[in-house]
Amino acid sequence: MRSGHSPEGEELPPDFRESLRSLSEAIRSCTRCPLAEWRTKAVPGEGPDRADILLVGEAPGRDEDLAGRPFVGRAGSVLDSCLNDAGIERSRVFITNVVKCRPPENRRPRKAEVEACWPYLEAQIELVEPKAVILMGNAATKAVLDVEGVTSLRGRVFREIFLATFHPAAVLRNRNLKEALVSDLLVAKEKAEG
Ligand code: SF4
Repeated sequence: MRSGHSPEGEELPPDFRESLRSLSEAIRSCTRCPLAEWRTKAVPGEGPDRADILLVGEAPGRDEDLAGRPFVGRAGSVLDSCLNDAGIERSRVFITNVVKCRPPENRRPRKAEVEACWPYLEAQIELVEPKAVILMGNAATKAVLDVEGVTSLRGRVFREIFLATFHPAAVLRNRNLKEALVSDLLVAKEKAEG
């Protein structure tokens, strides 16, 4: 996993890695990057304390920012449909994003924002202990694996647990990608069950 981030900014609470609850509390009051000024609600992520599959998207969108929950808008409907087609129960996976606050105009998160938010994602992966981490889209693959190009990266396992696939929002733009996303979820499911 990526490491070595040490952004300038607000210190993290000393106990933020102790549990998903303390992590979520730290995220909801976080001001480590400028995205804090734009958010309505931070979106820590949701799911069981332990999950075999952890999904990582890019950033909250408008609906997620208002709800404080991940993947509840149109991309969330696509994700739900893909999970359903792959036979994966949403309630049994942990879902989060690279950055926990919505960027203005849904722009891509900036490097400094990703680095400021990185300790939260790292701690979530450590606490949830997934057998498969699905990186959805280029922002997630860049943040975690430091590489981009989902089209060529998908279908392979990196560092034993990481798989890359398309972001559900990409499926909204090109419905032909849904089959690939479902296929990648099935690979993750097999890995998690194995
Ligand atoms: S995006 Fe992450 S680092 Fe930035 S304010 Fe939100 S929780 Fe903090």
